Amino acid sequence: MTFTPPATPVLLHVCCAPCSGAIIEALCSQGVRPTVFWSNSNILSADENVRRLAVLRPFAARFGVEVIEDEYDHADWLTFVRDQLEAEESHVRGRLGRQTPDLAGYPERGARCEMCFRYRLLRAARYAAANGFGCLTTSLASSRWKSLEQVDAAGSWAVARANAEAAGAGDHAAATVSWWPQNWRKGGLQERRSAIIREENFYNQTFCGCEFSLNHNPSGTCPATADTTESTNTKTI
Ligand code: SF4
Repeated sequence: MTFTPPATPVLLHVCCAPCSGAIIEALCSQGVRPTVFWSNSNILSADENVRRLAVLRPFAARFGVEVIEDEYDHADWLTFVRDQLEAEESHVRGRLGRQTPDLAGYPERGARCEMCFRYRLLRAARYAAANGFGCLTTSLASSRWKSLEQVDAAGSWAVARANAEAAGAGDHAAATVSWWPQNWRKGGLQERRSAIIREENFYNQTFCGCEFSLNHNPSGTCPATADTTESTNTKTI
């Protein structure tokens, strides 16, 4: 894959090793050594969070890539996603229609997932602004199980909010962060992603991360490895 390297340090939000391996490899091969930001409070338990992070660490270390571990707080993620959904949906229905959303009632690639992306990318964007990274991207959309449009919308929303917060606080040292909406499935990366998963024998994740995704496995195979066999997902490719 080829791309124009950003003229600023890159913060790469990473959701898991299977989704990020080919991205880290591609960036480093073109002289861009990102810093990885692990922020995945969507994962339903601290044990599962640690287990997924432990798969990433040795892979990133081989490329000399630093991994920053964000605080894990699943309760805070639940509150944020519920509040965001309530605000978005009451805006559509009007104030009289305000009601607490049932997070289990949304399908994957539905509105709950976009709010989930907002949470993780906002934390990444705030870290980027506070630590001199002018560019933020993510591995979230490297899987066909995710919506590129939702990830891009959430990324743009996150950097706009983080930049506004920094400006509002009068933080003149904060970087202005740009969202890098690179399609990390193109240029052979989809194929390389699958190859790395096989070569590295990465931990076989059987669900996306949150408790609402536990029983959502439509292909009957692992979401991390299903990309090697699934061919009919027209919505997200
Ligand atoms: S299914 Fe995945 S992307 Fe959607 S809310 Fe759950 S953890 Fe987030």
